[in-house]
Amino acid sequence: MSCALVLGSAKPKSFAAHKSIGIIMHQRASHLQNALFNNVLGLAPGTLGADILESGKAQLEQLYPHVEQIEKEKVKSIVKASEGFTITTNKNTYHSKLVVIAAGYTNLVHIDGLQHYLQPHPRAAVEKERMWLKNEDHLVAEGLYVAGTMAGWRSQFAIAAGSGAQVATDILTLWNDGKHTKVHDKA
Ligand SMILES: Cc1cc2nc3c(=O)[nH]c(=O)nc-3n(C[C@H](O)[C@H](O)[C@H](O)COP(=O)(O)OP(=O)(O)OC[C@H]3O[C@@H](n4cnc5c(N)ncnc54)[C@H](O)[C@@H]3O)c2cc1C
Repeated sequence: MSCALVLGSAKPKSFAAHKSIGIIMHQRASHLQNALFNNVLGLAPGTLGADILESGKAQLEQLYPHVEQIEKEKVKSIVKASEGFTITTNKNTYHSKLVVIAAGYTNLVHIDGLQHYLQPHPRAAVEKERMWLKNEDHLVAEGLYVAGTMAGWRSQFAIAAGSGAQVATDILTLWNDGKHTKVHDKA
């Protein structure tokens, strides 16, 4: 959601204005479901992860409605196509030039097409059997990004959300012909 928010906020920029952006908003397995936050800058102490799941969706919908939110679908496979990727869910098939995967670091994630990149997590307790998608600077393969704990980061909310924002600015930079890009609103 952090990645989608930053991508959505770039709409006024000419290089992003006509891009189609979508997010498969499967939330049931999120570690936010039962998390409680006291140690995150900018979040009021006592904030519930379950509330962030709802408020994040609403923020994306209200501010950046051009980002399509796809609900009640689970990704089954991500396969390289002639241009971009074919993403198959339990209900539909989508095509996208770029894909960002942020499916968390549990060993319960089963998405065909990713097995080749899946490895034991480099920054988690071995006995927990966490996994990551091997990547360099969030890039798994051309056009295929990973964000959050699945990118190999430790499980802290600010790190996972920051990782998503980082990937968004990498994609905006790509769309902007390699010129380093960020999106700032001013008071
Ligand atoms: C009990 C608990 C307490 C915590 N407390 C703190 C704390 O105090 N401070 C702190 O900083 N951090 C805390 N955390 C950690 C924080 O919640 C995580 O670091 C953060 O949620 C990781 O984000 P993520 O995007 O990597 O993974 P997640 O939030 O787990 O998101 C992964 C998403 O991928 C989706 N998904 C999985 N498979 C598929 C599929 N096949 N198709 C589509 N979608 C899929 C899931 O449904 C989920 O929405 C806590 C975590 C837990 C569990």
